[in-house]
Amino acid sequence: MEPLFSLCEEFCDCRETLVSGVRQQKARFHDCDYCRARNALIPQAEAQANRAVPRVSAGASASAWTRAFSIAMDELARAAAQRLVIAVSR
Ligand SMILES: [Zn+2]
Repeated sequence: MEPLFSLCEEFCDCRETLVSGVRQQKARFHDCDYCRARNALIPQAEAQANRAVPRVSAGASASAWTRAFSIAMDELARAAAQRLVIAVSR
């Protein structure tokens, strides 16, 4: 059985492969296109979370903000995937 996580000999310029300022080898299943598409959704998800969760204090509002951000990312990714399916099926 192959390990779920292994490294290949390739490097890329994705943020995910930069750890503490040191470029790491790509994981075996790393997908640069997926990372770029997902990262493109982050600013919109941040804006949605900022609108949904007022900044009251660092504690409770931080966890609520993280939850709102995660929900926004899921919704945006789902919508992007649906657009991709529609485009491919035409
Ligand atoms: Zn990459």
